[in-house]
Amino acid sequence: MATVPGKDLLAQFTAIVGKANTLTPEDDLTHYTHENRDIVIGSTPLVLKPASTEEVAAIMTLANETRTAIVPQGGHTGHAAGGVPDESGCQIVLSMERMNRIREIDTAGKTMTVEAGVILQTIQQAAEAHDLLFPLSLASEGSCQIGGNISTNAGGTGVLSYGNTRELVLGLEAVTPQGEIWNGLTKLKKDNTGYDLKDLIIGAEGTLGVVTAAVVKLFPKPKGKAAAWIGLATPKHALDLLNGALEKAGRSLTAFEFMPRIGVDAVFDHYPQIRNPLAARHDWQVLMEISSARSQRDAETELETLLGAALEDGTIEDAAVSTSEAQRLSFWMIREIMPESQKRLGGSIKHDISVAVHRIPEFIERAAPIVEAAFPGARPFPFGHMGDGNIHYNVSQPAGMASEEFLAGRERVQDAVHALVTGMDGSISAEHGIGRLKRDLLARTKDPAALAMMRAIKQALDPNGIMNPGKVI
Ligand SMILES: Cc1cc2nc3c(=O)[nH]c(=O)nc-3n(C[C@H](O)[C@H](O)[C@H](O)COP(=O)(O)OP(=O)(O)OC[C@H]3O[C@@H](n4cnc5c(N)ncnc54)[C@H](O)[C@@H]3O)c2cc1C
Repeated sequence: MATVPGKDLLAQFTAIVGKANTLTPEDDLTHYTHENRDIVIGSTPLVLKPASTEEVAAIMTLANETRTAIVPQGGHTGHAAGGVPDESGCQIVLSMERMNRIREIDTAGKTMTVEAGVILQTIQQAAEAHDLLFPLSLASEGSCQIGGNISTNAGGTGVLSYGNTRELVLGLEAVTPQGEIWNGLTKLKKDNTGYDLKDLIIGAEGTLGVVTAAVVKLFPKPKGKAAAWIGLATPKHALDLLNGALEKAGRSLTAFEFMPRIGVDAVFDHYPQIRNPLAARHDWQVLMEISSARSQRDAETELETLLGAALEDGTIEDAAVSTSEAQRLSFWMIREIMPESQKRLGGSIKHDISVAVHRIPEFIERAAPIVEAAFPGARPFPFGHMGDGNIHYNVSQPAGMASEEFLAGRERVQDAVHALVTGMDGSISAEHGIGRLKRDLLARTKDPAALAMMRAIKQALDPNGIMNPGKVI
């Protein structure tokens, strides 16, 4: 049974980073203890803000000796309540915000070595200053940290061409739950020397150690980027468009985002400053982007050719191709504001699911009657990264209902949707992780042998259970 750390112990932790780099319950701790949508409101006796790997190591050594629970926290944008302490008041928050140095940009090797607390957007901008690209891209990029991205194996809009965070990391530096520093900051593309510790820590959501730094991959910056806003009749037409584009454009197809009519209605009806790029509203829309290593004109031509053929064979109903960078960004604005616009429709029950890409239309078709049976009148709001088989299958409340009444049915709706997902060999968490919010769901849905291996790994690396307890497993 965890106990609240005493005054003397808190003073020892404080001494490691210096009082000025701590926060206590006398300060406003809301940012550190409240899950960002207030779904979990935790409590902590102390927030520590180390500035170096050595300080993190000293914290973990003391935590291990005294069996004190530590909750690593990055930019606090996670969707699974993985980075917030529980309600016990026993868990110390380890905020990585001061470990925010870019240690090296290697333009010849196309890598960047960054500390865990560097904001994702800072990495993107630093790469761009060297005419390079760091392709990880999320709507939260202005506040999430690379350590959080690594710990959640974040996805986002660039996965189709560049992969998840896992594919973008070459090396890692981490502190173990016992306080040992593991220097795995290699720049190697190939390294088959035993178990892949890097891949074990990526996506572990802070349950196996603290990520303190990473070597990330950079790419040549595309010479041109063109986006299209596309109207279509059905998800099957979107899949056909995706397959055709992949066949002809290959890795030049750098984004394929999918949105429903209810979503664009919510945007265009509630944000009048955002204009529909098309003359009419369509049942489904796609935001598709082509990047070219040659030129802007090349990107536009490739996109126009693809869409011309798709219009001709009836795959799509209409399309607008961006003719300027401002217009390209305005298309992205519609996509990025979509989750926010859904709030205008009242309560939302969320699912972050994936199925095999070719089964997305089947999933959307089968999920609608399942949701209707679980909660009559509820409105499916499926959107997201169709090219990765990842749909944010949100469900909005019936119009006019009190949101509390709808949200009281959360478990019923989620159980029904997740049963369909697992029945289709899909995943109940495609990119947001498990954290605390999906821990019990994972226990119910994951293969028992896989769960046993996960528990064995946790027990071996963190036998005292001090590393982000209560999360994932
Ligand atoms: C508007 C919005 C859009 C989003 N879009 C996407 C999207 O498209 N794709 C996507 O994948 N996610 C998305 N997210 C979710 C979120 O931004 C990502 O999960 C992100 O990677 C979390 O990073 P963070 O720094 O905020 O981590 P936090 O939320 O602080 O922490 C997340 C987890 O990582 C652990 N952690 C954090 N730092 C470390 C560290 N240094 N060492 C060990 N463990 C650590 C925490 O304990 C916690 O378990 C979105 C969120 C918002 C608010």
